[in-house]
Amino acid sequence: MSSCQSILNNTFSRIATLPDSGAVASYIPELAKVSPDYFGVCITTIDGHVHTAGDAKTKFSIQSIAKVLSLSLVLSKLGDELWKRMDFEPSGTAFNSLVQLETENGIPRNPLINAGAIVICDILCDLFKDPKRELLDYLRMVSGIKNLEYSEAIATSERLTGYRNYALVNFIKSFGNIKNDCDQVIDLYFHLCSIEMTCEEIAYTFGFLANDGKQLNTDYIIVTPSQSKRINAIMQTCGFYDEAGEFAFKVGLPGKSGVGGGMIALLPHQYTIATWSPKLNAHGNSYRGMKFMELFTDETQDTVF
Ligand code: GLN
Repeated sequence: MSSCQSILNNTFSRIATLPDSGAVASYIPELAKVSPDYFGVCITTIDGHVHTAGDAKTKFSIQSIAKVLSLSLVLSKLGDELWKRMDFEPSGTAFNSLVQLETENGIPRNPLINAGAIVICDILCDLFKDPKRELLDYLRMVSGIKNLEYSEAIATSERLTGYRNYALVNFIKSFGNIKNDCDQVIDLYFHLCSIEMTCEEIAYTFGFLANDGKQLNTDYIIVTPSQSKRINAIMQTCGFYDEAGEFAFKVGLPGKSGVGGGMIALLPHQYTIATWSPKLNAHGNSYRGMKFMELFTDETQDTVF
């Protein structure tokens, strides 16, 4: 990746001059306030190089990108017991879909759709006395951001408008796959989604998944190599919901998106790449983020395929 910065710069300029498409998420009113013009990229190599372009140091709402981190925490605590509560198959449906739960008895298809992430939050409520505090401490540890906080403004905005998420938690509870109080579980879920980071911080945070489960720089073991492999497999097959096939086809890396317009993808043993551009396509994934990753990996040919 010696020419990484120049490929990054060229790809960034190409995308920045193309017309942007899609719309900023508006179903969470707090996200609708964000300017559509932001565009940032950061690539972090596991041997310690950091390459950036554009708004790579501006914080934004990472939303569902955080679902990979709540999965890491629960997997590191529960191991394979987790798979009694959810599956690890792609859903092929939208991130907030309810349809499969009806026929699959409240067992979410995977931990990266809303249904699965809500069950993960239920498990956190079982594991910890103060799950909100423990989750925040974990996110601080994994990201290395000691003063990381939940965004109460974003969590409140979701609480006031998150009708589908309330439907999901109640529907799953009706099948017995939510053990705790629905209000406590959904409050934790909204806080998980409210975390804010920069592209640079996300690229560093996800370094452990490119490093066999060990945190970059410190070598602290966040998950085992086998768990890291499995989390990457789930990102590859489920990280972009009903666009996961297209992301594999066009980009060829495990990754995850969020409705704040952020995306993370990584090549094990090589690098992580975080992008942010708030306008989303019809699947809820960043339009320019997808384009950037496609052109970048076409140029470098550094992918898992
Ligand atoms: N907080 C958002 C929601 O629950 C997360 C969705 C996403 O980022 N895809 O709807």
